[in-house]
Amino acid sequence: MNASWAGDIAKIVLPTPFAVGDVNVYLVKGEVLSLIDAGPQTIEAKEVLGRNLSELGYSFEDIEQVILTHHHPDHAGMLDWMPDHIEVMGHPANQRWLVRPEGFFEEHDRFYVKLFLQAGLPQEYFSFIQKIRSPLKFMGNRGLTSAIREGDSIPGMEGWAVLETPGHAQSHISFWREKDGRMIAGDHLLAHISPNPLIEPPEKEGEERPKPQLQYNRSLRELLQVDISMAYTGHGEEIMEVHPLIRKRLNKQHERAMHVKGLLKNAPQTLFSVCQKLFPTVYQKELGLTLSETQAQIDYLEARQEIFCEEREGVLFYYC
Ligand SMILES: [Zn+2]
Repeated sequence: MNASWAGDIAKIVLPTPFAVGDVNVYLVKGEVLSLIDAGPQTIEAKEVLGRNLSELGYSFEDIEQVILTHHHPDHAGMLDWMPDHIEVMGHPANQRWLVRPEGFFEEHDRFYVKLFLQAGLPQEYFSFIQKIRSPLKFMGNRGLTSAIREGDSIPGMEGWAVLETPGHAQSHISFWREKDGRMIAGDHLLAHISPNPLIEPPEKEGEERPKPQLQYNRSLRELLQVDISMAYTGHGEEIMEVHPLIRKRLNKQHERAMHVKGLLKNAPQTLFSVCQKLFPTVYQKELGLTLSETQAQIDYLEARQEIFCEEREGVLFYYC
C-alpha cells in the first residue's frame, strides 16, 4: 500500500494471479470518481483495493464509474464486485470478452484449431487451446454500460480524451489530457517490457485475423504526434520519457523481426518451428504467448515483403 494522490490521480497497485505480477489501477477525481481498470477477480485484489480506497478517503460505494483500458482479466476482472450503480465504459470490442455470449467459447476454439493447423502444430498440442482461455476464470460477467471511441471525451473526466491504441488487445484504449500532457497508457506502454501483441479471433467469425503487431506499431507511431509529459502504465512504474521509449521499442522490434528472417534463410518453416527456435525453453509452458510473439514477427516481415508464405495441405510455410 502507499497510495497517494498526485494531483487528481492516485495509483493503486493490486496483486494478480498471473505471471505478469501486480497490476496498476488508477483513481481519478473529477466531476465524478472514476476508477481506471478494475483489477482481477480475486479476494486478494479486492482486499488490497478496499484498503487503498480507504487510505485515500473513499470506499467501494464511492466509485461512480469504471473505465477499462482493455478486456484482459488482470484489468477487467473485478467488475462483478463493483457497486451496482456504476457506469462501465470502454471500447466496444471489450464487450464479447466481458459477457462471453452463447457460442463465444466454441467460436474461440474453432479459431484456434484453424490457427494451430495452419501453424503446423502437432495434434498433441491442441489441448492447449483450453489453456489459452483459462485466465478468463478471473473475470466476472458484467458488460459495458457505454462505449467510448477515439476522440471521445469521457463523461465525468473533464479534459481527458480517448486514444484508440490497439495492438496488445483489440479493445485497447488509452487516455490523454492536453492540459498537462499526462497519459494513462494501460498496457500499451510499459517501462521495462514490450507488451505481447496477442493473437485474437476477429470480431466476426470468418473475417480476416487482426495483425496485432502492425496495429501496435501504428498505435505507437501515432503517439509520437501527441505531446505526452508522462505516462501511467498498467504494470510497473511511470514513464517520463515517452517518445524516446517509443523509438527504442520500434527499433527493437524491427531487430527481433530481422532475426526471425534470418531463421528462414535455409528452408521454409512453419510458425510452430520458428516458435520452437525462438523460445526453446518456454514454448511448451507458454504456448499461447510464444505463438503470439512469433506470429507478430512473421506478420511484420510479411507486411514488409521481407518474407513470403505458401500453403501446403493447409499448413503455412514461410520463406525468404
Ligand atoms: Zn495487463
